[in-house]
Amino acid sequence: MQGRLIVLEGIDGSGKSTQYGLLVRRLEMEGREFRRVGFPRYDCSSSALVRAYLAGDFGSAPGDVNPYAASTFYAVDRYASFRTDWGRFYDGGGLVLCDRWTTSNACHQGAKLPAEQRGPFLDWLAEFEYGLLGLPRPDRVIYLDVAIKDAVDRLERRGGEDIHERDRDYLAACLDAGRFAAAHYGWIVVSAGDRTPEAIHGDIYRAVLDIL
Ligand code: ADP
Repeated sequence: MQGRLIVLEGIDGSGKSTQYGLLVRRLEMEGREFRRVGFPRYDCSSSALVRAYLAGDFGSAPGDVNPYAASTFYAVDRYASFRTDWGRFYDGGGLVLCDRWTTSNACHQGAKLPAEQRGPFLDWLAEFEYGLLGLPRPDRVIYLDVAIKDAVDRLERRGGEDIHERDRDYLAACLDAGRFAAAHYGWIVVSAGDRTPEAIHGDIYRAVLDIL
């Protein structure tokens, strides 16, 4: 019996961590059985290349590493996580709540490509991770859509560190790429800008309720 995979996605500063926390608490309060999974898993050896990439070992700007190469760094971490941590639970019909998934490659790596190359990249990405690596396809992807200004304001309040978070033009490109991917793959877009976390959470909960 195949499990159910729900993914929360959005650019940095979209409020993804906040919304993930609210959804986790709601499901816990309702007494539902589920597993929480987040990526990248910075404390695991399978994220070694992700950490080197974010630290700037392969170049100090996101564009210094081509999106196909960078996507493989993140994909192997997901593969290791699925195979060693929660694959059995999922294959037994379990509910898994993901803070980022293959969807993050679509946004953060798709951002490095001109618009006309994004479609072929997204098709390659899905075939690579879901087809060739055998990672599960999400049943539902919730994409948190924000204006770039809201994301930048929030990140400034929080303080960012890595090569992605330092580069505002790159963040704007991620927003473009995220919207493109949402349309391409048919993600559910939730408006996560100038609204309270509780209002945004309500939309997310309603969008996943039928598969809980
Ligand atoms: P992400 O995980 O997408 O980078 P976070 O959830 O960490 O985003 O949120 C970034 C910052 O914005 C945090 O300081 C958080 O408290 C704040 N924040 C989150 N959601 C909202 C919201 N709806 N309105 C205002 N600020 C928010």
